[in-house]
Amino acid sequence: MTKTDIIIIGAGAAGLMCALTAGQHGRKVIILEHAEKPGKKILISGGGRCNFTNVYASHENFISDNPHFCKSALAGYTPDDFIQLVTKHGIKFHEKKLGQLFCDSSARQIVDMLLKECGNSDVKLNSSERVVSISKDENFLITTNKDHYSSESVVIASGGVSIPKMGATGFGYDIARQFGHRITATKPGLVPFLLPEKERKRFSEISGVSADTVVAVGKMSFRENTLFTHRGLSGPAMLQASSYWSEGMVLRVNFLPDMDLTNILEKNRSSKITLGNFLSGMLPQRFVSVIVPENIAAKALNQISNAELKEIALILHDYNFYPSGTEGYDKAEVTCGGVDTRELSSKTMESTKVKGLFFIGEVVDVTGWLGGYNFQWAWASGYAAGRGIGIKN
Ligand SMILES: Cc1cc2nc3c(=O)[nH]c(=O)nc-3n(C[C@H](O)[C@H](O)[C@H](O)COP(=O)(O)OP(=O)(O)OC[C@H]3O[C@@H](n4cnc5c(N)ncnc54)[C@H](O)[C@@H]3O)c2cc1C
Repeated sequence: MTKTDIIIIGAGAAGLMCALTAGQHGRKVIILEHAEKPGKKILISGGGRCNFTNVYASHENFISDNPHFCKSALAGYTPDDFIQLVTKHGIKFHEKKLGQLFCDSSARQIVDMLLKECGNSDVKLNSSERVVSISKDENFLITTNKDHYSSESVVIASGGVSIPKMGATGFGYDIARQFGHRITATKPGLVPFLLPEKERKRFSEISGVSADTVVAVGKMSFRENTLFTHRGLSGPAMLQASSYWSEGMVLRVNFLPDMDLTNILEKNRSSKITLGNFLSGMLPQRFVSVIVPENIAAKALNQISNAELKEIALILHDYNFYPSGTEGYDKAEVTCGGVDTRELSSKTMESTKVKGLFFIGEVVDVTGWLGGYNFQWAWASGYAAGRGIGIKN
């Protein structure tokens, strides 16, 4: 039996941040990670360059059944705090767009930085060690495939269930339920859409085409690119929308967000140019040929009826897609939903039901938008728990 102050389950973004913070507060930490190496999702994130934060992160960029919960942790560890850490380690970075910060070189630098910070204090990382069960007596008793541990505190940082081939498991939810916690409904988030067969066939012709769009889903809307794929719809605007979408909901797409097409067509009503050619000056030609009915596209602007003009404006400003589903957890960047935050302290992430039990990162019902927000939540919640346990000392 190995004794320690804190056991952290999962060496992802949240677990490593929690470990280094608690370690720096003088606590003895062991991280148990069932994959062969730590930080696997960090390594593949942001196309290998890790979009490690977003300078504009606020609670409005997060989805949760309890929307104010994340405020305290986000205020306690801000994007600036992480930028300072990255800068201290000499990691060069740049803003790609919309406040999204990426490493200039490689995501590996972020993992190395976190491990180096852990190495500065009493933090031990045991990789290739799977936690099998946790029970609580006076202390927590943790059984793995290799050993038994006893600790005062246990931090569940085991992530969500997206991308199971990277080591994602539902372990965190099982442990939460075992200790009497509720789990809010989970679903894949930041994930491409599938289109019904008929539309899939029609739009697969333009697979690879991307357009600047505003995509609205329920009360939310996102201005970013939409990408047509051979199975449906992707690109940042669609990934964002997916986290707010549920079965049966419509996606309303404006393919000409900066224009008033009715007005423009009215002004050119005397032109002899065909509608198809006219629109190809504003949108990819392949896209126009698929989305605009052939018989109308072939007409000259001076032959188009008022009803047709209205129809075209509606198609391009308010196209309605009814996805048949999403690509699911295999392709989702995150899991929406998770451990119900109404049973956690917003300051320390400690369970209000079981003293010494903490939940951080993606396993919690706090899901960020695309653009560095999910890592910011992992850093902030990891820091809150690490500090919370640390100052108890
Ligand atoms: C392809 C991809 C790209 C992404 N890019 C970005 C990006 O650029 N910016 C951004 O902000 N977010 C990005 N995300 C989301 C981000 O990676 C996650 O939100 C974040 O990693 C969550 O951190 P976490 O520590 O909570 O969980 P994870 O990083 O998933 O870590 C959980 C760890 O727990 C381990 N574990 C699970 N069960 C057990 C068990 N029973 N015993 C021991 N260990 C266990 C897992 O192996 C894993 O290492 C991306 C996600 C994906 C899939």
